[in-house]
Amino acid sequence: MVKNNLQKSALITGISGQDGSILAECLLEKDYVVHGLVRPTSNVDNIKHLLVNPNLKIIWGDLMNVDLLRYVLSNYKIQELYNLASQSNVRLSYEDPGHTFEVTLLGTISLIEAVKKYSPLTRIFQAGSSAMFGESCDDDGFQREETKFKPISPYASSKLFAHNICQNYRKNDGMYISNGIFYNHESYKNKRNLGIISTLVDKALLISEGEINNFFIPNLNTTIDFGHANDFVEAMWLVTQQEQPDDYIISSGQIISIKELCDYIFSELGMNYKEHITTNEQNDNCFIAKGDSSKIRSIGWLPKINIYEMIDEIINKRKQSQK
Ligand code: NAP
Repeated sequence: MVKNNLQKSALITGISGQDGSILAECLLEKDYVVHGLVRPTSNVDNIKHLLVNPNLKIIWGDLMNVDLLRYVLSNYKIQELYNLASQSNVRLSYEDPGHTFEVTLLGTISLIEAVKKYSPLTRIFQAGSSAMFGESCDDDGFQREETKFKPISPYASSKLFAHNICQNYRKNDGMYISNGIFYNHESYKNKRNLGIISTLVDKALLISEGEINNFFIPNLNTTIDFGHANDFVEAMWLVTQQEQPDDYIISSGQIISIKELCDYIFSELGMNYKEHITTNEQNDNCFIAKGDSSKIRSIGWLPKINIYEMIDEIINKRKQSQK
C-alpha cells in the first residue's frame, strides 16, 4: 500500500468536512497515503475530485464503530491521525447532547484506545474549539493555552472532555497527542450552515436574487476572530511534525464584527445591508474571543489569507455553483 518506506501515511476522521477535505488535499500534495473515514450517509462533494487519486483510500464507516477503528489501526500503518470528526453544530448539541458526547468524546476515546493498543507510535492531532473557553479570558482579554476553560454549550463541554482526555493519555501513557484549539475559520467548502460568513453570503445572494427581502441578526456588534481553513490545516500539519506533542491555540488574530462583515458582503453584491437586516442592536458590550497564537507562531506558523480574500472566495464560488 505504501510505495516506499519514506512515504508517510495518515488517517483523517471527518475527511468529508471542510477541514478534512482541505487537509486531504494538503497531505496528498505532500505525497502522503491518506486514509479517510467517511460515513456512508455523508455528502462527499468536498472530496469528489480526490476520489480518483490512488493515494486516497476511503474507509466507509462511523467513528462510533469501535471494531472498525481497531481494524484500521491494526492493519494500516498509520503514522499521523487527524481526528476532525465531531458533532460540531452548537444548536444540535442542545437538542441532542447525548449524541454530541457519543461522537465527540466517546468516538475520540475509542480512537485513542485503538491507537494505544494496535499502533502506539501513531501521532494524533485532536481538533478542539475556542468554545471550550466560553467567556473566560486572561486580564488582557486574550485566551491562551493556560486560560481557564468555562464551556457553556454541550458542544463545548464535549470538546473540553476530549481535550482533557487527550492530555491524560499524553501524560499517563506517553502517547503522542497534540490538541489544537481552533478559532473560527471558513472557506468555500463550508456548506453545512455552520459558518457565519457562508451563511451571510448565502442570505445576501438570496436577497440579490429577490428570493427573500430581509433577515434577522440578533447582534451586529458581535466580534469574531476569523481565519481561512487552508491556514488552519497547515497549522495542524505543522503541530504534528513537532518532536514533542503539545497544545496550541490556532487563531488568525483577524478580528471583525458581524456589522463589518455584512457591510462588506452586501457592498460586494451591490447592496446596502442596512436595508435588509433587522437586529436588536442594544448590546454594545459583546464578549470578544481573542486567541493569543504566539505559541504556534513560535514554531513557524503564519496565516497567509486575509479575511476579505476569504469572503471574495466564498462569494465567487457560491456564484459559480449557481450557474
Ligand atoms: P465539519 O465540516 O462539520 O466536518 C465534520 C466532519 O465530521 C464531517 O465530515 C462529518 O461527516 C464528520 N462526522 C460527524 N460525525 C461523525 C461520525 N459519527 N463518524 C464519522 N464522521 C463523523 O467541521 P470542520 O469545520 O471541518 O471542523 C473540523 C473540526 O474542527 C471539527 O472537530 C470541529 O468541531 C472543529 N472546529 C472547527 C471550527 C471551525 O470554525 N470550522 C472551529 C472550532 C473547532 P458527515 O458528512 O457524515 O456529517
